[in-house]
Amino acid sequence: TERLRGTRTMPFGPESLTRVYAVTSGKGGVGKSTMTANLAVALAAQGLRVGLVDADVHGFSIPGILGITGARPTRVGEMILPPVAFGVKVVSIGMFLDPERGQGPSSAVAWRGPMLHRTIQQFLTDVYFGDLDVLLLDLPPGTGDVAISVGQLLPNAEVLVVTTPQAAAAEVAVRSGALAAQTGQKIYGVIENMSGELFGTGGGAQVATALDAPLLGAIPLSVPLRVGGDEGSPIVLSRPEDPAAEVIAGIAAAM
Ligand code: ADP
Repeated sequence: TERLRGTRTMPFGPESLTRVYAVTSGKGGVGKSTMTANLAVALAAQGLRVGLVDADVHGFSIPGILGITGARPTRVGEMILPPVAFGVKVVSIGMFLDPERGQGPSSAVAWRGPMLHRTIQQFLTDVYFGDLDVLLLDLPPGTGDVAISVGQLLPNAEVLVVTTPQAAAAEVAVRSGALAAQTGQKIYGVIENMSGELFGTGGGAQVATALDAPLLGAIPLSVPLRVGGDEGSPIVLSRPEDPAAEVIAGIAAAM
């Protein structure tokens, strides 16, 4: 087919049956990548065909969370096949940076909208995912440029907003969600992460109300969740009985 030959046909277009979720947040450090990776693994564990595009140029932490740091896509003829982790086909901006040419996380911070747009486009056109039931995108926090790009490249994409309970985080999350809504994207829902005694609760509900979207769940602070991320072992598989893992699995089950 066109796609197999690596031509520029855009997969996951309007006719596609693949459900596309673009995960965003107002700011960094709220657990967006951790949620995205664990949701992807939970969805794959349900037997779905899942792809994950790590487009967070500031962080690209997905390969670490999924235990495939250093993995590179394989080239078969003109096809680029993504590495697979826990049943999830993963492509990350970090996989295409060349440390020997001084390209790394810090150089990626200077990325601007148009370059990001082209990169996401290339991920989608050049990497062969095959048929997917679900495609997740881990977006950089709170940039309008990206919301616009995703809206153009993936018209079916629904936005999933991750926030922490604090008011300051919730306010920026509302702003980034509202930007996506302005570009015509549907807000799938809001996840409140790090919910509980330390940071309080309520930010997620506040964001959900402001965006007129459902609150999908509140994930408590969890040491196993953090350790699982550090060790590349997602807790939805390794510690399914952990309360945080249970909430994430529940959200995935409804997706
Ligand atoms: P973001 O993608 O929003 O920048 P990350 O997913 O990289 O955030 O998470 C930031 C840090 O917080 C990571 O060390 C991660 O393991 C940790 N973390 C995320 N969610 C939780 C949680 N519910 N409990 C404990 N640690 C968490």
